[in-house]
Amino acid sequence: MLERIESRANTIGGGLTIRRALPNMRRRLVGAWCFLDHAGPLEFPPGDGLRVGPHPHIGLQTFTWMIEGAVVHRDSLGNEQLITPGQVNLMTAGGGISHSEDSAAPQSEHARLHAVQLWIALPDAQRHRAPSFQNYPDLPLIESGGFSVRVLAGSALGRSSPAEVFSPLVGVDLSAPADAHLALPLTNSFEHAALVLEGEADVGGEKLAPGTLLYVGTGRDSIDISCVGAARLILIGGAPFHEEILLWWNFVARRPAEIEQATREWNAGQRFGNVRGSPSAPLVAPNPAGLGLRATAPKLPSL
Ligand code: MN
Repeated sequence: MLERIESRANTIGGGLTIRRALPNMRRRLVGAWCFLDHAGPLEFPPGDGLRVGPHPHIGLQTFTWMIEGAVVHRDSLGNEQLITPGQVNLMTAGGGISHSEDSAAPQSEHARLHAVQLWIALPDAQRHRAPSFQNYPDLPLIESGGFSVRVLAGSALGRSSPAEVFSPLVGVDLSAPADAHLALPLTNSFEHAALVLEGEADVGGEKLAPGTLLYVGTGRDSIDISCVGAARLILIGGAPFHEEILLWWNFVARRPAEIEQATREWNAGQRFGNVRGSPSAPLVAPNPAGLGLRATAPKLPSL
């Protein structure tokens, strides 16, 4: 089963417009992957950059794959981590953490940015765990069929990512400087989705350009991926996640009361600690009873 899903434009910190492929009206999850933003590639005007001030998360992992640019992550555990191209930042929010993300370029330079940020819903048994943060500078790289395949999460082509995840899933980045073709082995029980980040690619017979997510249902042992000329894409997947999640603002929970409590506590300066050193102002959690809920999560229960 193949299903084409269009990303929506959305605005994040600093007024940056990104493409949001997950969640959407058609698919809320691919495995436990529950959020997918594609930012760039772009160059900011001098002095501008990514500016996402301190904000909280619960119940999820944030998974940042950096392709171009440099961003400083700061969090309430005291971590200050520069993420550069080829690296993954993985933050496990568990019961609660706060962080900020700011471009690292000096004021006089043009900051560049090309990145993907994903969220992974934590299973119920793990979603209240202690928060943690890890930077992964060395991820497996395999050359196959003209593609450079980077294993971001889980296993692919016999190699495994060191990224610590809590449900069966996979994430790979495939890039090629010219024509390439690969029959990529898949885990049969996983569902998958592909998103082109640059150029154009053919995935399972579907032509894709940036902005279109191709959902691939379970029951496949492999998928043909090819490109004519340079291209880059990601493929994510995982065991279908059968827990009913409630995703609202930066929170993943199960019940509206949990969202309401997290909103109250963040706006009161409780529970989520302090992020030190960010040049950006903290974000205010919107009222869960407001329009935001219907605008961002139309299929979720009303709070
Ligand atoms: Mn965040």
